[in-house]
Amino acid sequence: MDLRLTEDQEILRRGVREFADAELRPHVMEWDESQQFPMDLLPKLAALGVMGVQFPEEYGGSAMSAVDYCICIEELARVCPAIALSVAAHNGLCSAHIGMFGTDDQKRRFLPRLVKGEVLGAWGLTEANAGSDAAGMRTTAVRQGDSWVLNGSKNFITHGRIGGVMVVVAVTDRAKGHRGISAFIVEHGTPGMAAGKKENKLGMRASDTSEVIFTDCRIPASQLLGEEGQGFVNTLQVLDAGRIGIAALSVGLAQGAYEAARDYARERKQFGQPIAAFQAVQWKLADNATSIEAARLLTYRAAYLKDRGARTTRESSMAKLFSSEIAVKVADDCVQIHGGYGFVKDYPAEKYFRDVKLLTIGEGTSEIQRLVIARQLLAQ
Ligand SMILES: Cc1cc2nc3c(=O)[nH]c(=O)nc-3n(C[C@H](O)[C@H](O)[C@H](O)COP(=O)(O)OP(=O)(O)OC[C@H]3O[C@@H](n4cnc5c(N)ncnc54)[C@H](O)[C@@H]3O)c2cc1C
Repeated sequence: MDLRLTEDQEILRRGVREFADAELRPHVMEWDESQQFPMDLLPKLAALGVMGVQFPEEYGGSAMSAVDYCICIEELARVCPAIALSVAAHNGLCSAHIGMFGTDDQKRRFLPRLVKGEVLGAWGLTEANAGSDAAGMRTTAVRQGDSWVLNGSKNFITHGRIGGVMVVVAVTDRAKGHRGISAFIVEHGTPGMAAGKKENKLGMRASDTSEVIFTDCRIPASQLLGEEGQGFVNTLQVLDAGRIGIAALSVGLAQGAYEAARDYARERKQFGQPIAAFQAVQWKLADNATSIEAARLLTYRAAYLKDRGARTTRESSMAKLFSSEIAVKVADDCVQIHGGYGFVKDYPAEKYFRDVKLLTIGEGTSEIQRLVIARQLLAQ
């Protein structure tokens, strides 16, 4: 057993860290205020190799491992969690679904543009009345000759307005329940597909989130993704992998918040000494550094198992649950250690505090992770 990263992974971490400090940090608040994903960042992210981290080189991807992917997401999230969220949704949901279940033709047609960052990927599972209970979705796809016709709407979709390619999950045979759900690839601009309301969010504001509406949206039959009726089953596998990415995002955000709190505690003086000299502050820092390490290990373990071809339903949910919950605590302590300065936008604490809450909600809430873990435990 060797818990160290390889030399290449240390180099990767340094590279992404330097990129995030140089290219993201100066703009974090500007992007947050404008609530726009900075599209001009895409070529830079692609040049760094993070738009197609785990995809084969034949499609233009970086052919890296799941552990490498965690390192990339972690380092982006340490500086700008919203950009890390967009990169994670692009890689871990849309592109991953096509990479895992697409035909050779579909991969050749859609993956190169996604992994080279020419377009952003979106992934539509959630609906207004079907969130945790995603199988209760109402969006339908009906086969008509050589086409599928989609009707319905998807809610809270990352890159719903700005994504060039979207994977959409829809009911194809309601009588078959979750085995009557299929996935489709829809290109931005297809007639009948329209962006709905853009969400005005608490945090993660540089990551675009909106509704997507389908009205008699006709796509070629060749854009069915995976087997008919397997869309929901495949979705659960996509989420097993995607949740490792959200766990890594949580670790990175927590690391950024912890470092901000540590640095502030060294500088800020009260009662004639740095507040870092007070045991109450030291214990917060010590507890947070310890839980971040534990979260990182759980996350890397899930990624390590994925790299070895294991099914990681339980490990992914454990990593996502633990990492996102400790990240909320670390971000909260970061504001507390900053005192009043944690409540204003001159310091990064308030943004970590706003961004972090998404992590216990997106890609399955903490309650749903516990439900998944308990099912796995009780099935043994
Ligand atoms: C910023 C953002 C980006 C997103 N991006 C995407 C995306 O790209 N694609 C996509 O498809 N979706 C996306 N989502 C949707 C996200 O996955 C859902 O919000 C999430 O799954 C929860 O669904 P819900 O919001 O409908 O909450 P609900 O399911 O209504 O849950 C409300 C509360 O009830 C609890 N609850 C529900 N069922 C149970 C149960 N059985 N046991 C115990 N508690 C339960 C939940 O844990 C939660 O606390 C995004 C959401 C946000 C906020």
